[in-house]
Amino acid sequence: MNAEPKRIPLVDLAAAHAEVAAEVEAGIARVLATCAFVGGPDVAEFEAEYAEFTGVAHCVAVANGTDAVELALRVREIGAGAGVVLPANTFVASAEAVVRAGARPVLADVDDEFLLLDPNRAAEASGGPMPVRALLPVHLNGQLAPMGALRALADARGLALVEDAAQCQGATQDGLAPGAWGPAGLAATSFYPGKNLGAYGDGGAVSAGDEEHARVLREMRDHGSSRKYVHARLGFNSRLDTIQAVVLRAKLRRLADWNVRRRAAAARYDTLLAGVEGVRLPRTAPGNVHVWHLYAVRVPERDKVLALLAEAGVGAGVHYPVPVHLQPAFAELGYAKGDFPVTERAAEELLSLPLYPQLTAAQQERVVEVLVGALSRL
Ligand SMILES: *Cc1c(COP(=O)(O)O)cnc(C)c1O
Repeated sequence: MNAEPKRIPLVDLAAAHAEVAAEVEAGIARVLATCAFVGGPDVAEFEAEYAEFTGVAHCVAVANGTDAVELALRVREIGAGAGVVLPANTFVASAEAVVRAGARPVLADVDDEFLLLDPNRAAEASGGPMPVRALLPVHLNGQLAPMGALRALADARGLALVEDAAQCQGATQDGLAPGAWGPAGLAATSFYPGKNLGAYGDGGAVSAGDEEHARVLREMRDHGSSRKYVHARLGFNSRLDTIQAVVLRAKLRRLADWNVRRRAAAARYDTLLAGVEGVRLPRTAPGNVHVWHLYAVRVPERDKVLALLAEAGVGAGVHYPVPVHLQPAFAELGYAKGDFPVTERAAEELLSLPLYPQLTAAQQERVVEVLVGALSRL
C-alpha cells in the first residue's frame, strides 16, 4: 500500500530554521540578557558581514525592503516631479516605494526570455514626456537585470541607478553584486522571511558604495538623527531590530551554501523537465550567477495547472498574477491592458515550483510527475 505522499510546500522555512536553530537560540538569549532590542551590537556586526559578503563598502540595515528602496531613492534626491523607470513585471513594492519617495513610476516592459527590465524599453520610457531621473531595475527571481546596458543608459542620460535586489542575495553578474555597479552604487534588499536571506520578521538593507550616502541613510532610518537629540533632517523610523540581526547573521553564514543547493535544485528541474511539452523553462541570462529565489516555469492554462498541483499536495505559486500597471492602486498612472504585452502574457503563464535549499531529489521528482500529469489533463 502506498503511503499518501507528503505535501510539498513552495518554501520550507522550518527546514531552514532547523539548520540555524542552535545559533539563533543562543543569539536571542544573548539579546534577551542585554535587552538591546533595537540597534544592538549584532546590527552593526551584521551590516559589516553583509558588506563583506556583497563586496559593496557600506550596508545600512533598515526595517524592510520597501523602505530600503524608498530610502535609496531619497538619498539620491529622487522625489517630487521625478520619473523613475522600472519594469512592469515586479512585485508591487518596487512601484510603491517610488510613489512613497514622492516620485512617479514610469513602467517599461521586460524581455521575453528572462522577464527582466529590457534596456531598449527602458530607454524608450526614459525619453517619454515624464522627466525621468532614475532607473530602478528589479533583479527578479534571483538574477540580475542586464546591468551593463542599464548602467550605460543611466550614464548616457545622467540618471541615478538604484537596484531593487530584494530577490537576489548572493547573485552576481560579471562577478559584481547589486550595489557594486559603479563607485556610488545603491541597491536595496529585503529580508522578508521567504527571501533567500530571510529574517524572522521584517528587515531590509541598502548597499551603498558611497560613504556619504551611507551616512545620510543612517540618519534617515533613525528619525533623521545625526547624534542623540540632534535631528539634521526629517527622517523615518526604519531600524532593524537586534533579534532579526541575530537571525540574519546565522543565516548569512549559510547563504552561499544554500544558494549552491538552490542552483543544484534548479539544474535538477531543468533536467527533469527537459522535453516536457508545454513547459517553458526559466533561463539564466549571460554573465549571471543565479540564486533561484523562484523557479518559475511558463505553462498553458496556468490556473488550472495550479489547481491540479494544489489538489495533489504540491504548493506552487504565481508571481505575479496581476501586473503593477493593472492593479487598482496604480490606476492613477493611466496605464491600460495591452501596454506591456510581455509582462501581461507572463502573468497568465507563470508558475513558481517549490524550491528551497533543503528540497530533495525525490520531492522534485514528485513535483514533476504531478506537473506532467496535470498538463496531460488539460
Ligand atoms: C519582497 C520585495 C520587496 C519588498 O520587500 P519588503 O521587505 O516586503 O518590504 C520589494 N521588491 C521586490 C522585488 C520584492 O520581492
